[in-house]
Amino acid sequence: MDQSLKSPPLSALDDAFHAMVALSRGAPPPDLAIRRARLQRLRDLLAANEARFVAAISSDFGHRADVETTIAETLFLLTEIKHTIKQLARWMAPRRIATALQFWPARNRLIPQPLGVVGIIAPWNYPLQLTLAPAIGAIAAGNLVMIKPSELTPRFAALLRELIAGTFAPTELVITGIEDGIAQAFAQLPFDHLVFTGSTRVGRIVAEAAAKNLTPVTLELGGKSPVIIDASANLDQAAQRIAYAKLLNAGQTCIAPDYVLVPEPQRDAFAGLVRNHMLAMFGSNPANADYTSIISDRHYARLEGLANDAASKDAKLLQPDTPANPDRRRLRKFPPTVVVGATSEMAIMQEEIFGPLLPVMAYRERSEAINYINAHDRPLALYWFGTDQIARDEVLARTVAGGVTVNDCLLHFAQINQPMGGVGASGTGAYHGQWGFDTFSKLKPVFYRSPLNRMTDLYPPYGAKIARIEKLLRWMS
Ligand code: NAD
Repeated sequence: MDQSLKSPPLSALDDAFHAMVALSRGAPPPDLAIRRARLQRLRDLLAANEARFVAAISSDFGHRADVETTIAETLFLLTEIKHTIKQLARWMAPRRIATALQFWPARNRLIPQPLGVVGIIAPWNYPLQLTLAPAIGAIAAGNLVMIKPSELTPRFAALLRELIAGTFAPTELVITGIEDGIAQAFAQLPFDHLVFTGSTRVGRIVAEAAAKNLTPVTLELGGKSPVIIDASANLDQAAQRIAYAKLLNAGQTCIAPDYVLVPEPQRDAFAGLVRNHMLAMFGSNPANADYTSIISDRHYARLEGLANDAASKDAKLLQPDTPANPDRRRLRKFPPTVVVGATSEMAIMQEEIFGPLLPVMAYRERSEAINYINAHDRPLALYWFGTDQIARDEVLARTVAGGVTVNDCLLHFAQINQPMGGVGASGTGAYHGQWGFDTFSKLKPVFYRSPLNRMTDLYPPYGAKIARIEKLLRWMS
């Protein structure tokens, strides 16, 4: 588009991007000290402004339990930065790679290099964690970074923008605006790598825009993450762990357990136990400050629609009161709801729930549960509860998911040395810890030829000498 025809936010976006590209191509890559200093500045900024982030996010949600912001967002990021600063020298060092015999005594090295300019598009549900966690890996790898936060968390986005602008040069790390049109324009910029976290629907649009520039993407998407309760499971303990994971952030968690498959004879007992644990944790008062609000009236209405649709198709809803309760509606505190007897005809089993409703479905044979999962999109997370190791290993071997926690939910995500990412419709690529550093680096293979080796001197005219080398190579192959 002609520059003069662009609105001020779009031309500012373009200018910021091109300044970064120019710097990434024109200056040497940042050394260890510069990268560490950038990460430390980010850490200091987070530590000094934790209370402001907690307040801004809560006000964007209507209400967000403070501890959910500190544990799942600020502390998560502080830990990730500390780990990255500590490990960075090791990650940046050239990696020794074995050299095949015919090239001896030459050397191979894999050299990590910054890709250049990395773009990050973030969702609203953990707005701080999901804007900055990919940025930590990208900065560590020596890149310049642009981030577009979600328009559904405007107070948070304004705060982050102000703080980052006061701490980083605009060519190091920049937070864009969230005005109309920015998201689409951002996805069209020819980044050296683009990270998108959000819905599978928008992920497709972003991947298409990136493909036009041959920009590689990391897509952190959503979907329906199943839980399998094995007949060998401790039902009460499983119910408690699942209830907590479902209600954290009021179910607005990408790796929340979406639905549960339970052996038929245990279905009703399990559903009752989950309901009891939900009540014990969050009570029935909508004003409970531990319980987080749904992000918008539109999302609240969508969840209400899912509950009504399930009830109209004969599911039994276990809930403390109804979503139509005016206090709940005003505060957007959707009642924790167990949906007993969910079936695949119900809308709740056809889309990602992303709210505090837990469908419980019965299965008869283990293979029935596995086949159900495999008949749907590859999930972002899968959870299995039980003590029967043969059953567990069969589920692990026969299902493909972004990540798995055995005998709990969510915790694989907190493993700093494990990659986080989906598979198929739940995502592409992964980051966190060294996995993030590697994702945002070009791992460049370099071969250092040895003057002592003449086996690669294959110059014509071909004759007896080359025939001898060929014979030797044939013997080695
Ligand atoms: P969303 O897809 O609606 O929006 C995500 C981001 O994309 C926002 O910043 C939005 O402005 C931007 N966007 C919207 N349209 C765009 C376009 N045409 N081009 C470029 N960008 C565009 O998702 P959401 O509602 O913010 O988040 C919820 C979804 O995110 C859920 O599906 C959840 O499972 C998923 N999620 C996944 C992870 C993960 O790590 N895999 C983490 C959190 C959330």
